[in-house]
Amino acid sequence: MPACPSCQKSAMARWKKLMMSPLAPMPCDSCDTELGVTWRSYLLAISLGTAIFAATYFMFEDGSLDQYLGYGVGFILMLLGQLYFMPIHRVQVKEQQ
Ligand SMILES: [Zn+2]
Repeated sequence: MPACPSCQKSAMARWKKLMMSPLAPMPCDSCDTELGVTWRSYLLAISLGTAIFAATYFMFEDGSLDQYLGYGVGFILMLLGQLYFMPIHRVQVKEQQ
């Protein structure tokens, strides 16, 4: 389970981490701290999968089995990257003026 940087307990179910993006922060399940990811860590996490996606698009014939397989592998690598190589951090709560 992804650990919360604030309370060190499990922050959310794995599938929920897949829904996280720099535009979609999520509260920690254990302590309600708002958690998010930076653009940098998000893009790094999905970079390998995205590269395979792009390579597949250019290398294989449209609609071929190879292309479907390449997209599948690229997609899975994007998910794995998000799960295991995307650090989550506390979202800075803006002070009320
Ligand atoms: Zn927490």
